[in-house]
Amino acid sequence: MRQQIVAGNWKMNGTTASIETLLSDLLQGIAVQSPAEIVVFPPFPYINQVATQLAGSHVHWGAQTLSANQVGAYTGEIAAEMLTDLRCRYVIVGHSERRSLYNEDNVTVAMKFAQAKKHGLTPILCVGETLEQRQAEQTQQVVGEQLEAILNLADGVQGLSGAVLAYEPVWAIGTGMTATAEQAQAVHQVLRQKISALDATVAQQLPILYGGSVKPDNAKGLFAMPDIDGGLIGGASLEAGQFVEIINSI
Ligand code: PEP
Repeated sequence: MRQQIVAGNWKMNGTTASIETLLSDLLQGIAVQSPAEIVVFPPFPYINQVATQLAGSHVHWGAQTLSANQVGAYTGEIAAEMLTDLRCRYVIVGHSERRSLYNEDNVTVAMKFAQAKKHGLTPILCVGETLEQRQAEQTQQVVGEQLEAILNLADGVQGLSGAVLAYEPVWAIGTGMTATAEQAQAVHQVLRQKISALDATVAQQLPILYGGSVKPDNAKGLFAMPDIDGGLIGGASLEAGQFVEIINSI
């Protein structure tokens, strides 16, 4: 059985006080053990605070991105090793906001993925098409190329072993326009088949999350799909009650 995961990407939101409240409400809300692994992704300055508050709980934490480089003169960057030092288990790689706002191309994303793996972090690799690409029926090609960049790394398909994939259609992120469960399942299935053609075991074990306006009222339908193994949640993860409801939909 594949690991199910519900992850909350807080993006550039929060303060010391609001994060303390959010986590304490979350910990209270998920008192019952969930079958899903629960992960939160705070902004960098708050990772240490989150690590301290979550120590001993069954909620994990990670970072929203990392440097493609190992160490050295890269002003403002955060190295994989710094994340492991802060006991991060996960790191998001290739989120569409990083791709579109900070010009991260497939090669950069692949370098970040490799850094994460090298340092024992679990990368959550995001792939997804824009609305124009979907309308032009290029969805499979776009997510295929985004995946291919990782498969071209030295480890090939084995690089995906121990990683997580997230299908996040760009048109659904923060827009309230969720992909239907069927639309999402169709892309998840294609991704798993692509990987399966190279290594069936890796494909079977790889969690593939859906992200894009997941809310308490649509989570159950999405998570019921055979190739959807949980969610990467943006907006709704900033509200403990909504995030707990989504976790409980698994
Ligand atoms: C995201 O940023 O990864 C995301 C899925 O955001 P939202 O849930 O707000 O659409």
